Amino acid sequence: MKVFISADMEGVAGVVHQEQTGRDGREHDRARELMTLEVNSAIEGAIEAGAKEVLVNDSHGTMRNLLPELLHNGAEYIIGSPKILSMMEGIDGSFDAAILLGHHSRMGQSGILNHSYNGRVVTNININGIDYGEIGLNAAIAGTFQVPTVLVSGCQFATAEALELIPTIETAVVKQTVNRVVAKNLTPSNAQALIKEKVLSALGKRKEITPFTINGPYTVELTYLHSGFADAAEVLPIVERVNGESHRFYCDDFLTAFRYIRSLINLASS
Ligand SMILES: [Zn+2]
Repeated sequence: MKVFISADMEGVAGVVHQEQTGRDGREHDRARELMTLEVNSAIEGAIEAGAKEVLVNDSHGTMRNLLPELLHNGAEYIIGSPKILSMMEGIDGSFDAAILLGHHSRMGQSGILNHSYNGRVVTNININGIDYGEIGLNAAIAGTFQVPTVLVSGCQFATAEALELIPTIETAVVKQTVNRVVAKNLTPSNAQALIKEKVLSALGKRKEITPFTINGPYTVELTYLHSGFADAAEVLPIVERVNGESHRFYCDDFLTAFRYIRSLINLASS
């Protein structure tokens, strides 16, 4: 069995603020350690469940967060950015299951530190009439390769977002969001134990979880924080303007649509 893990930071127990998630934040290095230890627990669970190979993709911010000296020896790690598949770089059809660790709800919803890729630029990503955040799009990337996403960890709103899309997914709620920057957390060791336990049960029922896909053709609408971002992204000729703050484009292939979404957000932020 081969297991893919996408490791974000906002959904890690004990992480509630940008001082922790931002590269220049004073508490960032401690949050990196908490993230690394949750990843290690997921790897332990995967190996105990029978995984022969585990690949971890660092998927937060700079994508250089995992602390190499603390990492579990049972996995290989992708760090650094940019990556074509971003938070899902490295996944392909050879994997048996994907795990979304430390994830968060999409912008526009409740949930700790909620955003969709770039909270300073984009407020909504809509595909064929349904709003998606990182959880939905990451699971759909895995689904493109027929890989089921079997577990998501984070706050109760992140796991609810996943359950709405994948009703049989396993979840590990490591903290309860009180508001966008306040949460009631499990202690690190309790969160790590929960993650290991949930990875074991998720991988045990992986064959009962259907790979999540978004069926094409795709009409994608991006809404930005203000019209200036839409102006900047409009140099990409694929888009048509919907209104001051929104673009639309059409696409037949999901991974191509995802790459356009990422390109537009990067252009807008430039
Ligand atoms: Zn993140």
